[in-house]
Amino acid sequence: MKPPICPRCPNCGNRQYHAVQPAEFLTFSKDRLCLACNTRYAPPTPLWATIVFILIGGLLCVGCGLSVVIVLIRGMPAALPTNLAFFALGVFCIRLGVMSRFETVLVAPDIDEPEPANKPEST
Ligand SMILES: [Zn+2]
Repeated sequence: MKPPICPRCPNCGNRQYHAVQPAEFLTFSKDRLCLACNTRYAPPTPLWATIVFILIGGLLCVGCGLSVVIVLIRGMPAALPTNLAFFALGVFCIRLGVMSRFETVLVAPDIDEPEPANKPEST
């Protein structure tokens, strides 16, 4: 099951977490486990990751799509499964990139966080 998407813990607002293996097959980062309340959540997908997913998917689709056409024209059926598999991977990457723009990002509750303890004082 996909964890809720939030920049901080969606349950308590804590920023401290432990990185854990993502629940999904292909993600740009690991899931997070809140150190205060053990809530599992995932950080929002940044725009650069969306662009990378769509670019890689587009390249795979165009390259493997053309290759499938060439394979069919030249009559080389042995190369067809590999090209179709990579074409499908390209479609999957594009879908992942597009869907990441429509993910629902939760708003974390506000907490009174203490100032960093070892902040240097300038006098
Ligand atoms: Zn928490």
